[in-house]
Amino acid sequence: MPIARAVEILFLLLAIPMTVAADKPVVIAHRGASGYLPEHTLEAKALAFGMGADYLEQDVVLSRDHVPIVLHDIHLDTVTNVAEVWPDRARDDGRYYAIDFTLAEIQLLAVTERIDVNTGKAVYPGRFPVGSAHFRIPSLEEELQFVQGLNRSTGKNVGIYTEVKKPAWHREQNADISRIVVDLLHRYGYRDKQDNGYLQCFDAAESERMRNELGTKLKIVQLIGKNNGGTPSTDFDQLRTPSGLQSIAEYADGIGPDMSLVVSGVDGKGAAQISSLVADAHKNGLVVHPYTFRADGLPEYADSYERLLEIFLVEAGCDGLFTDFPDATVRFRDAMPLPQR
Ligand code: CA
Repeated sequence: MPIARAVEILFLLLAIPMTVAADKPVVIAHRGASGYLPEHTLEAKALAFGMGADYLEQDVVLSRDHVPIVLHDIHLDTVTNVAEVWPDRARDDGRYYAIDFTLAEIQLLAVTERIDVNTGKAVYPGRFPVGSAHFRIPSLEEELQFVQGLNRSTGKNVGIYTEVKKPAWHREQNADISRIVVDLLHRYGYRDKQDNGYLQCFDAAESERMRNELGTKLKIVQLIGKNNGGTPSTDFDQLRTPSGLQSIAEYADGIGPDMSLVVSGVDGKGAAQISSLVADAHKNGLVVHPYTFRADGLPEYADSYERLLEIFLVEAGCDGLFTDFPDATVRFRDAMPLPQR
């Protein structure tokens, strides 16, 4: 039985009101401090580390030689100059796949701020200028060494938060990405619940496989998106029901929902409309870390980034969140009252 559940039952038995002070929410740097530097570069991770993030996120896909690399997409063309360097190595769909290039080739590419491949324009125009400065794609192992090196030199203990991307697609390419990633994290000391790291995945069967078949004891967060075809093997509408959350609690420690599944908007008086997802997850001992919080991409209902954070961290009681802007988020979190549960 999870400790939180045991404590809850104890309080119920004693008929004491449940006003347990929870920990302050954690700040997860989404692809690093990606509001300021190109996503998933070590520079963006260093900045997030310096800004006081609790966790640095790694999205992971495989190269042709099956090296895990830190990259959000299975494609290279949204964040690198691959189309200029190897114009004839696109697949029939016109896209350049990381798994068609060796690590050595991938590391020759220049990383840039994310562009829309159809227009060639920056997705977030106010961010780091496209095509300027020189950045490159790190392997997961390089990034683990980087984080552990910074932890050592600063005396801090910043965690990792690693997402296995598209395991079913990798399997079609004859690659077992989950096994490769879990083995590497174990080798770097991320093995158990008390180790400062999380694994995350959208594919529910794969998250469960990492716990049971691959045997990791590291904390796992089940990501919960929308049923839009991105992860056909997983029914997110079912996963976020009370029975779905109960099944998640058998293999995972938390959920990472799309923020719109927690708050749908505000009513006529400006009060946030909060779903039961956070409360239902907490009943099952699951922490809740929604995504993605952007000061330059606010949902319509929030007139400032601070108001958005107030809704999710103070009113909805989330245990942390993924953000492109760790500095503003840490500032808000450090000033907020200790949440009650
Ligand atoms: Ca991610």
